[in-house]
Amino acid sequence: MTQKFFEDNGVVSLRAISKEEDLRQPCRFFINPPPEDGRCDVCGRQMSELTPFGGPGDPLPGDFTGEKLVKTFRLDCPYPDEIEEAMRKAKKEGWEFNSLESLLAHFSEEESKKLEEIYDKWADRYEQFSKSWECRDCIVLGDLEYFEKRSQRYQGHGNKGVNYEVELGERGIISNPPSLDRNIT
Ligand SMILES: [Zn+2]
Repeated sequence: MTQKFFEDNGVVSLRAISKEEDLRQPCRFFINPPPEDGRCDVCGRQMSELTPFGGPGDPLPGDFTGEKLVKTFRLDCPYPDEIEEAMRKAKKEGWEFNSLESLLAHFSEEESKKLEEIYDKWADRYEQFSKSWECRDCIVLGDLEYFEKRSQRYQGHGNKGVNYEVELGERGIISNPPSLDRNIT
């Protein structure tokens, strides 16, 4: 059953969506609406191809039984390479972290200072979050896996790997995005 965050005075915000006819809502303002084509924002699969969420706790806290896409919020841009590398290293070594601070605590003072500077510079410009409508398989992904999976959608466009400028343009986050063709050489 399609779930609503709220509906008030013609303003609607959905939490989760189970059927295509609910993709469009008769309202004045539709806050953070689901993708019009009913595709998962991460893997790109359409609602008709998706396994619905199961009972309570599958895989999220709360009961999303029967929903196909659930709204969450994600970073707009991936972390800088150096931070991603540090995260990969921490995972490989089995180090626990749930914040930048706890990640950096595993590195030497010198390394950690350098990484913090890189992070701060990135965060000033890019640390913002946007809505993301995700399927049962994608919503559990951590940041690293999330950006890797998104990047797979851009394979076959002729560009090598991801072009986040193009992607952010498509999602309306930056204006005047470069054309995809620019990357086809
Ligand atoms: Zn997905």
